[in-house]
Amino acid sequence: MLVTTKEMLLDAKKNHYGVGAFNVENLEFVMAVLAAAEETKSPVIMQTTPGTVKSAGLDYFYGMVAAAAARTEVPVALHLDHGDGFERCMQAMHTGYTSVMIDGSHVPYEENIATTAPVARVGAAMGIPVEAELGKVGGKEDDGPAVEGENPYTDPDEAVEFVERTGCTSLAIGVGTAHGVYHGTPHIQQDVVCEIASKLDIPLVLHGTSGVPDEQVAEAIKNGISKVNYATELRQAYTKGFMAYMAENPECFDPKKPAKWGMAEITKIVKIRMENLGSVGRA
Ligand SMILES: [Zn+2]
Repeated sequence: MLVTTKEMLLDAKKNHYGVGAFNVENLEFVMAVLAAAEETKSPVIMQTTPGTVKSAGLDYFYGMVAAAAARTEVPVALHLDHGDGFERCMQAMHTGYTSVMIDGSHVPYEENIATTAPVARVGAAMGIPVEAELGKVGGKEDDGPAVEGENPYTDPDEAVEFVERTGCTSLAIGVGTAHGVYHGTPHIQQDVVCEIASKLDIPLVLHGTSGVPDEQVAEAIKNGISKVNYATELRQAYTKGFMAYMAENPECFDPKKPAKWGMAEITKIVKIRMENLGSVGRA
């Protein structure tokens, strides 16, 4: 069933586990992530960045995820990841997305508030949760390498004021993770997670988690993270499976066959992540 992220994340926060939010790029990703959620009885968030949305349109992604959600008993939410402006967030809500992020983390603090507050206000009126971001997650969401060591952490007191002034219902925080591919081992600043969690009542979100050791993620969840985003490693998994099939079967011209191997790789990695997040059996 298609639900909002509200109950999902509040339950995760209350019971100290994390809900996985997985970026889906096409139909095969949607089916493969759904399979993992069903096999582990996990609530799941499927999300798309504006870059992915531009490749097909919000309506296509809504159609695919709504079909997936209609087939299953596990709660499925469809989230706009890194919403790049008021208009895109409104379009997503109008199309049927059940959760949006408005990302004002790339502009100065006051401008971030001015960007986030109107979206949160509409979301509140429509019953759609709105995630915001304060502090920077390194790297670039849609592509490119992550730069290590240049992530300023989110200031806990600023976070409290930010949430009060914007009305966002969940918050992505900068605690040392980065988007894209890591060069070197990332390090989550756990004391920052703890301090922010002790001051805020709303669920906290971790971005750029592909490549972060599972122990660090589990620790961050214990310390107060409720939603964990994975994008890069699903792309890598799909491509790995797809190409392995084509290497073994170079004559193949039926795209369903290599796609099946790609999907199996996604399902495998998503199940591992769900187990680590502690979301297994929570559906
Ligand atoms: Zn992100």
